[in-house]
Amino acid sequence: MKVPKNNNMKKQQFISDYTVYDNEKEFAAAEALDAELLFQAHEAVSRSYAPYSKFHVGAAVRLANGVIVKGCNIENAAYPSGLCAERTALFAAQAQYPDVPVEALAITAQSEITEVTEPVAPCGACRQVMVEAEQRSGRPMRIICQGNTGKVFVFDGVETLMPFIFLTKFL
Ligand SMILES: [Zn+2]
Repeated sequence: MKVPKNNNMKKQQFISDYTVYDNEKEFAAAEALDAELLFQAHEAVSRSYAPYSKFHVGAAVRLANGVIVKGCNIENAAYPSGLCAERTALFAAQAQYPDVPVEALAITAQSEITEVTEPVAPCGACRQVMVEAEQRSGRPMRIICQGNTGKVFVFDGVETLMPFIFLTKFL
């Protein structure tokens, strides 16, 4: 039996744009301010407490007043009690500068087990938090991702990383 075609059905595409730089040197030549933020994220990796995953993540947030707030992942033997680097940085920024918009967030990582040569992207929970931080800021938040070395990915706004976001306007 032939299933009747539903003419109301439409396939749609979601396209996400991002910029790729081959390494931090190329990135620094094009985007000096954001390259400095990425450097600060690399520095924050050393502050990470990750004895369980051995995967150390560093994040750095640049606010509209020029202040950079760092974060790192902090694990705990009671697993859910830990927190990702991105949220550590964003929450610290909110706690210290509640009224200052967030301009950009850089994320990087280093593993004790393997070389991290691919850009590290934030987890879903962090993306949801980033969406709301961006909405509060009233401007797109630039996301910069790198591994320990290698390519740098730049996303202009959280929505390019997280389509069909859960919107506060429905609450
Ligand atoms: Zn996360």
